[in-house]
Amino acid sequence: MNSKAKARNNYGRAYNFCAGPSTLPLEVLEKIQEELFNWRNGASILETSHRDPVFYEYTESIEARLRRLMEIPENYHVLFLSGGATNQFAMVPLNLLGEKKRAGYVNSGIWSKKAINEASKFCDVAVVANSEPSNYDHLPAQDDWQIPDDIAYLHYTTNETINGVEFNWIPELPASVPLVADMSSNILSRPIDVSRFGVIYAGAQKNIGPAGVTLVIVRDDLINLSPNKIPGMMKYNNQVENQSRYNTPPIFNWYVVGLVLEWLEKLGGPAVVEKQNIEKSKLLYDYIDQSNFYHNRVVKSCRSRMNVPFNLANESLESKFLSISREHKLTNLDGHRSVGGMRASIYNAMPIDGVNALIACMEVFKEQSNVVS
Ligand SMILES: *Cc1c(COP(=O)(O)O)cnc(C)c1O
Repeated sequence: MNSKAKARNNYGRAYNFCAGPSTLPLEVLEKIQEELFNWRNGASILETSHRDPVFYEYTESIEARLRRLMEIPENYHVLFLSGGATNQFAMVPLNLLGEKKRAGYVNSGIWSKKAINEASKFCDVAVVANSEPSNYDHLPAQDDWQIPDDIAYLHYTTNETINGVEFNWIPELPASVPLVADMSSNILSRPIDVSRFGVIYAGAQKNIGPAGVTLVIVRDDLINLSPNKIPGMMKYNNQVENQSRYNTPPIFNWYVVGLVLEWLEKLGGPAVVEKQNIEKSKLLYDYIDQSNFYHNRVVKSCRSRMNVPFNLANESLESKFLSISREHKLTNLDGHRSVGGMRASIYNAMPIDGVNALIACMEVFKEQSNVVS
């Protein structure tokens, strides 16, 4: 097959429903291929120095684009770090505690819990709300939260990637308590008001690029609260002063994030992609809800637009379903190893055709199973 024919055939690619690393826009992959041998400086991006003035110019344009897309106010810094969202689980308490000894956390799913476990090494964690007793099938309404007045910040996870629950509201806090959000799996999937937050962080590999780079948006008054106690790499202030180059950053991954943001801006940005995300997730949830063959256990008002976990009424058929779906070129539909079942991750870059293909496969499988049983 020549390259044009391969492209027409979508390069033989499957629809990839992986929760992360996840599917990237095809245009982005094509651009990477096209530019790989000589980026803008006579060298491949893989061979480019983080000190190259051309790369500085490029990273400034990435930041400017992100600031446009998210309407980030001037008093916030934008960082591209390594270590994943998991490293932020430690960096947030290390940087934000200052003289305080306590932080508030919402326990709304498995990722929240991991953030809590890490923070517990550095401070006393006050769990202000907890949906673990009902197996994370809903989000606790804010009226029921118990917020102590001595906390350094309040942390929550805007979208629980494993459990499939998503906040469609922002918690209200006294102005003295910075709100910290792990937005790894729904950043840029909808417009949000950045000014309501102290820190926003997100590993890139769900919605904005490949694994290896982590976006951090931090308000200026929070970058230097704990002056001496932190490893250099983990100090927001050091990373701000060095424009995210305190050590050699993951240049290639950062570059790809730039391409994804360019793709998103061309598409129309978060407001436009939000409409698509509503449409895609509604198609899938509506299909699941009208069927008595498949089900989703999350309270409707708390369901995630990004990650749709589901089970078969007859759980013994699940592994069969997964193998049939792979035959239909629908991959990585397995639920997280800690919860089992199935999960379809349908981030910004998943086309609606992918969701329709999944629903068609689910329908075929249901019909076949009903004939047999
Ligand atoms: C994937 C994920 C993480 C962990 O991200 P890493 O980049 O692997 O450290 C943390 N929080 C949420 C909500 C996630 O979806």
